[in-house]
Amino acid sequence: MQYDHDLDLAKNVAGEAIARMQKDGIAPEPMHFEVWYAYYSNAHLELKKAMDTLIKTKGKLTSMDCRGFYEQFLSEKKQQEAYTRASDQIHATLHDVSGLMSNVKQATSEYSDTLEGVTQKISKVKTPEEMAGVLKSVVEDTNRMMENNKKLEAQLDRSAIAMEELKRDLERVRREAMTDGLTSLSNRKSFDEQIANISKECNATGRIFTLLMLDIDHFKSFNDHFGHQVGDQVLRLVARTLTDGIKGKDMAARYGGEEFVIILPETNLDHGIMVAESLRKALANKEVINRASGELLGRITMSVGVAQYYPDESVEELIERADAALYTAKHNGRNQVAAAPTPHERHLSQTK
Ligand code: GH3
Ligand code: MG
Ligand code: MG
Repeated sequence: MQYDHDLDLAKNVAGEAIARMQKDGIAPEPMHFEVWYAYYSNAHLELKKAMDTLIKTKGKLTSMDCRGFYEQFLSEKKQQEAYTRASDQIHATLHDVSGLMSNVKQATSEYSDTLEGVTQKISKVKTPEEMAGVLKSVVEDTNRMMENNKKLEAQLDRSAIAMEELKRDLERVRREAMTDGLTSLSNRKSFDEQIANISKECNATGRIFTLLMLDIDHFKSFNDHFGHQVGDQVLRLVARTLTDGIKGKDMAARYGGEEFVIILPETNLDHGIMVAESLRKALANKEVINRASGELLGRITMSVGVAQYYPDESVEELIERADAALYTAKHNGRNQVAAAPTPHERHLSQTK
């Protein structure tokens, strides 16, 4: 977000934000600070309203709440701003290029006027001296034209380079918009797009895919005990375990908080269960170490729900079935994998 505050106002707002974070015991991280800065500057009224509502119910906000607000209100704004900046630059470059083009047009038409004049002059030439004079002026005009062309070419090259840079910037912004900042996995938005695409494709072609929903066990108490920074480290460890354990076209995403999802194209329920089992084991076998202190923090486990997509089923139904299977895995004692009932079985159990 951009603020056009003068130094005094910025100092006041920053002072209030820091005092509030200290009072409420919020970790002094830039992301948290930005949330409180935006709050006290009244620069983002929706954010302020949402924070006030939560403060009313909870008394005070935690670092985790701040992070949630940042992701909800500020990170998207950042991307929007980057998009706006990039598109302004594109407009400016296009403007330059169209200016160049009209210069080229004008120079070319002036040159062809000159040539036309030469034709007339030549028809009137009587002596070799006169002829030499006309030729000299043609050579001079041609040289001027060539020099002008060289300059225009150089300007066009510069514009092409600027456009190339912009293209790369836009690609980076787009990639960032689809990536979860903490774990570098695909984010929820990207998952929503990909699952919509694959379900459409499978409906059209009769191909299959399976969805895994994975949730870390007892993560709240782990976080409460070791602090959210260690919690974040664990989220990255889980993300790495998932990406290391899948291959090819499989796609892992952070669904939210400590929940992850994996799309397994061309995979049936039994094979999906096998992948889920191997991921579950891979995580359970890892010893969590606090990077900062080297202290051993024990092991982390996760529960997994597995559901194979059925033709014509909506994405929402598929997610509900995978989520129900995840609930079963939790209910049966956690650190395990459960398979979802088919839509038909689910329907029967719901109408009983
Ligand atoms: P269960 O075994 O039933 O899944 O219990 P749980 O404690 O894992 O589940 P619950 O949904 O009660 O708690 C999830 C916790 O995940 C709450 C919050 O402390 C933590 N969490 C969510 N997002 C983040 C994050 O971005 N960073 C960190 N460090 N913790 C997070
Ligand atoms: Mg959990
Ligand atoms: Mg959860």
